Amino acid sequence: MVDTDKCRITHYPAKVLAGKAQPVEKIDDNIRRLVEKMTDIMLENKGVGLAAPQAGVPLRLFIISLDQTKEGIKVFINPTVTPIGELDLVEEGCLSIPDIYTKIRRYKKCKVTATDLASNEFTEEAEGLYARALQHEFDHIEGITIADRMGSTAKIVHRKKLKKLAEEYKEAVEE
Ligand SMILES: [Zn+2]
Repeated sequence: MVDTDKCRITHYPAKVLAGKAQPVEKIDDNIRRLVEKMTDIMLENKGVGLAAPQAGVPLRLFIISLDQTKEGIKVFINPTVTPIGELDLVEEGCLSIPDIYTKIRRYKKCKVTATDLASNEFTEEAEGLYARALQHEFDHIEGITIADRMGSTAKIVHRKKLKKLAEEYKEAVEE
């Protein structure tokens, strides 16, 4: 049971962002409340996607709304994301790693299979920003952030900012 009143945006280097999330066992009112709470957090922070670990909950669930509206939200529960074709290098940010924008290598296309809030399984092929968002959010439930994905030069460039975040959000790691 997730206490959705306690859900807050989590920041790097919080432990919940570094671990593999657990499958959602049952899609019930609690999960629906969690999705509502995640929607609020994502829209408040002007993101296009949010994974449950970013709300402090280690579950395999994320939401995406490419146009940043409530109506545009898609829910992905227990998803699998499979890359298709070639790689691409595009600048990305992350709500959990504020003020850092860095080029991340991802596949141009991918396939996603997931369950929605009505417990229906669906499969889609995605490209462009959608494909990138799916891979970014899937990384989150695998415990991977753009801080792990960025190249060694970017790590040097962003070293100070990452260090500052680590100091600012240190308590989150010790919790
Ligand atoms: Zn992110």
